Amino acid sequence: MAKKKETSRKKEREREKKARRVFTVIVVILLIIAVVGTYILWKKGYIELDFADGHDHNEPQQSIVTDELSIHFPMLGNKYSGDCTLIKVGNTEILIDAGSRKNSAETLISYINTYCTDGVLEYVIATHADQDHIAAFVGLASGVGIFEAFKCGTIIDFPRTNSTSGTYEDYVALRDAEVEAGATHYTALECWNNENGAKRSYELADGITMNFLYQKFYEQKASDENNYSVCMLLTQGTNNYLFTGDLEAEGEASLVEEHELPKCKLFKAGHHGSPTSSGAALLAEIQPEIVCVCCCCGNDTEYNFGSNDVVFPSQAVINRIAVYTERIYIPTLVAKDTDDGFVPMNGNIIVSSDGGEVKVTCSNNDTLLKDTDWFKANRTWPTA
Ligand SMILES: [Zn+2]
Repeated sequence: MAKKKETSRKKEREREKKARRVFTVIVVILLIIAVVGTYILWKKGYIELDFADGHDHNEPQQSIVTDELSIHFPMLGNKYSGDCTLIKVGNTEILIDAGSRKNSAETLISYINTYCTDGVLEYVIATHADQDHIAAFVGLASGVGIFEAFKCGTIIDFPRTNSTSGTYEDYVALRDAEVEAGATHYTALECWNNENGAKRSYELADGITMNFLYQKFYEQKASDENNYSVCMLLTQGTNNYLFTGDLEAEGEASLVEEHELPKCKLFKAGHHGSPTSSGAALLAEIQPEIVCVCCCCGNDTEYNFGSNDVVFPSQAVINRIAVYTERIYIPTLVAKDTDDGFVPMNGNIIVSSDGGEVKVTCSNNDTLLKDTDWFKANRTWPTA
């Protein structure tokens, strides 16, 4: 009887042992599936993993918040090239352009709210009437655009346009609604002429000024909408930062002729890195140290002229910039096999300074364009 009991206990222990072994094997298999599955999804770009610090691209960076001046080139939330620059000087915010599409509004509003904590954009600049510069001011019909999301102080835009697009009409209606609500509206030409209360130069803080630059297409008809672009030079002591929208060769020639431009710490590359902008004459004047190209790198869906040279950023522009600097940064990269069609390249790019050294801080990585895989596969760095 006792022997029988012992045998059944032994059998029971063996069954338990076997069950534990089976359980362990199942757990190990599930773990392997989870790890391999995550790795595959990450490799294919379906999920984003940050092994360094698990950071949020929109988490405000304290060192930047406390810097005297920061200039932001945020990702635009889609695979299209477009411009948006947020400049922050203390509690004064300046927004230049809001591209690239109406659906960028949600992404940009969230980003701007991270740094603009009072809901007021003291200055808004729209460089020209193309959608990749104004669409997010309007936003989607199902959401809100930047004009609705923020109270605007002074809106400064392009004196001329040939545009008759619906997006442009919506932009004008919403801009005028801001004026109704108390905003002031000037054209860049009024600023240049110090007319009607507009100013050529705005002091943003002690030693930091926003200066509107003249170019002839503020007054003359241009065949290319890009040449109507509003140009602005931001000056912080001896540091200069230049923004020319999508200005093309003819507009750049006028800009160079009309001004003695200083050497610039930062240049926002003209027209998303197109070969027809950021010309040698302009670059020779400003000799940029840092260049941000506002494009979705590798984008060939909008400007396909049948040559690889117009995939942004173009080889021609890289060759010209390389004379002065290798510090070229780009927010996003085309990734055709992902749902959104893009992934962060440098991510949100922030150029900041207390007046001395100028830092570049990126939300994804600080890799220079010439060291990226995309560059190695698609472009060459000119040898001296
Ligand atoms: Zn553009």
